[in-house]
Amino acid sequence: MKIDCIRTHHLRHRLDAPFGFSQWYYDTRNTLLVEIIADDGTTGWGECYGPAEVYQAAISSFYGPRLLGLDPLATDRLWHDMWQWSLDFARGGIMMGAMSGIDIALWDLKGKTLGLSVSELMGGRYRDTVPGYATGMYFKDMPEDALSESLIAEAVGYREQGFKAMKIKIGKNPAFDVRLIAAMREALPHTTLMADANHAYDLPEAVRVGQVLDKHNYAWFEEPLSPEFELQYRQLREKLDVPLATGECEQTRYGFQRLLSAGGVQIAQPDLAYCGGISEALKIRSVASSLGINVVPHCWGTMLSLAAATHFLASGYREPGRAEVGGAILELDRTPNPLRDELFEVPVTIEDATARVPTASGLGVIVDRTALQAFRVKETEIR
Ligand code: MG
Repeated sequence: MKIDCIRTHHLRHRLDAPFGFSQWYYDTRNTLLVEIIADDGTTGWGECYGPAEVYQAAISSFYGPRLLGLDPLATDRLWHDMWQWSLDFARGGIMMGAMSGIDIALWDLKGKTLGLSVSELMGGRYRDTVPGYATGMYFKDMPEDALSESLIAEAVGYREQGFKAMKIKIGKNPAFDVRLIAAMREALPHTTLMADANHAYDLPEAVRVGQVLDKHNYAWFEEPLSPEFELQYRQLREKLDVPLATGECEQTRYGFQRLLSAGGVQIAQPDLAYCGGISEALKIRSVASSLGINVVPHCWGTMLSLAAATHFLASGYREPGRAEVGGAILELDRTPNPLRDELFEVPVTIEDATARVPTASGLGVIVDRTALQAFRVKETEIR
């Protein structure tokens, strides 16, 4: 079997209303999908998390031409081929993100060829469904009191949809953040709440906000600090009870080994469409497991990313082993995204805030080619 053709699809949708987090506002959704076709016509799909135009160039002009003619089933071999081709100048960043989308497409293709779902290829499923948590409560351009009210109403809406866990955005400014943390807990006394600062704080701010999260029994404090500051994560952890979560900006087993062995992080959050793909996420899980840390992927893309994360969580052993160990939890981004909700003939099924692990071969989701054209910015093809 040989790789015969590689296509990339840059897709875009302009949002009706922008939404913000601690770093900037989004007014469009963009993604880069990768389609790999074998010489027998079997097709695999992947996705890259990040700047689509740059990924498109990396795949169509660098990795793609080198992959043509190689065996698509040799996923680990091809990952290390790509690593070796680009190691000297691209140990991470965009090149690793591009490798991630290619790797996900190869796993989808391999599953379809062998008649196995990706979670079966990963070693088998521990669970057939994965409960989701709602990611939402992004900022809007309005006065802070009105914003706080609007965010609480949004969160209550998720609870009414069946979500037992959800994640709010913080990092706007510490005074607003601590008011929101308390008000959200008051409105949702029995909901599992997490808070994500998207690396907005310095260490003293993170300590003060973290103490408020402790007081209100939040389940994790996500990206309190910039990902470079591994020592500060360790210092923060020593002052707080709330578990620290991070990793969506980190890549490869080597990056996670450095981050996690510094001792500050209790929940690792690689994005499968950025960290190095499924192949590398499994190695990251092994590194994390060796330190007693669970992996809860970051997931903010289309149904391809969501399917990959669902299979990953379905196939994951939870540390520590225990008869009543807590279950896996899947990030379900609730922000408007037609590239997730209108692009798939067969999506991941979500009912009562819980994802059903696809059982069809490969990732188990099917792209609607008509919808693909509707969102298309630019397509490339090499063969
Ligand atoms: Mg985050």
